[in-house]
Amino acid sequence: MTNKPKAIALYSGGLDSALAILVMIHHEVEVEALKFIIPFGYSTGDMPSGNSTSSSVAKEWGFNIINKHLGWDFVEIVKNPKFGRGKNMNPCIDCRLLMLKEAGVHMERSGADFVITGEVLGQRPLSQLRDNLDMIAEKSGLGGRLVRPLSGKLLPPTLPEKEGLIKREWLLDIQGRSRKKQIALAKKFGLKDYSSPAGGCLLTDQQYSRKIEDLFTFESKFDFNDIDLLRVGRHFRLSERCKLIIGRNEEENKAILYLSKKSDFIFEVMNVGSPIGLLRGKASQDDIKLAVSITARYSDAKTQKSVIVNIKKGDQSKDIPICPIDNEILNKYRI
Ligand code: SF4
Repeated sequence: MTNKPKAIALYSGGLDSALAILVMIHHEVEVEALKFIIPFGYSTGDMPSGNSTSSSVAKEWGFNIINKHLGWDFVEIVKNPKFGRGKNMNPCIDCRLLMLKEAGVHMERSGADFVITGEVLGQRPLSQLRDNLDMIAEKSGLGGRLVRPLSGKLLPPTLPEKEGLIKREWLLDIQGRSRKKQIALAKKFGLKDYSSPAGGCLLTDQQYSRKIEDLFTFESKFDFNDIDLLRVGRHFRLSERCKLIIGRNEEENKAILYLSKKSDFIFEVMNVGSPIGLLRGKASQDDIKLAVSITARYSDAKTQKSVIVNIKKGDQSKDIPICPIDNEILNKYRI
């Protein structure tokens, strides 16, 4: 039995969330970390992308990490965010609320006393403005049970402080976009090789966001496989009914084949270095020809007048000759 206060942490594997945890552990608070996995990227908590050091930090500092998939609930908030989006498709406030609500449920179930995050006042444009921090605490249902150790001294006292579970002087007064204080704190805790600060998950990426918008616009019924495909290759919208994905390297070619369905067309130029092309949707003969000519354009035979391309669908396979598409025409279809 332990009488230590217990906190549930939103943990991304990034520096800020790691520091928030270490500040608490340093003061004898027991911490259990929740690492959220989102369908549109690999990020959680404070949202940096790196996670290579997460398990070693957890091991060294003695806290558990629980992975939690946010699944379709997350897809819904990306589609219809109540609190708007950042510059791209990132629904940061809705995302924070969803993660914090999950953390609140976990807090209740595990008998923890409060939830902590690595949020820093004023660090991110949308979700970490002062008013939004207050609103997020309120709407997540956590209210005073949400503690932000890195900026806690600049925020109103929380319930764990009032209850004497934690002391105000343990909390820090970090704010803004500079990382100096965090880097100094990392040094103090002996934290090495932490991931560099990142701007957010994949949803903050402009090009990736265009692919999501295209998916939402043209596919009324999509699944996780369609979402996984967004991370791979160049994407072309050939018609309202179908789109083409072209691998950019060997690894992407393998990923495309792995994610392909029986109903997809698969293209490969014969006898030369070739990308894999995947055509998904209800394609007409013209769409197929177009897709084949785009695949040929990305092969090593792109300057030839005619190349042979193999077309596979399910168990069927055939070869056809085609002229690689002209660059100017190609650009019309790029997503
Ligand atoms: S960038 Fe925004 S949407 Fe992405 S994980 Fe972070 S808070 Fe969530």
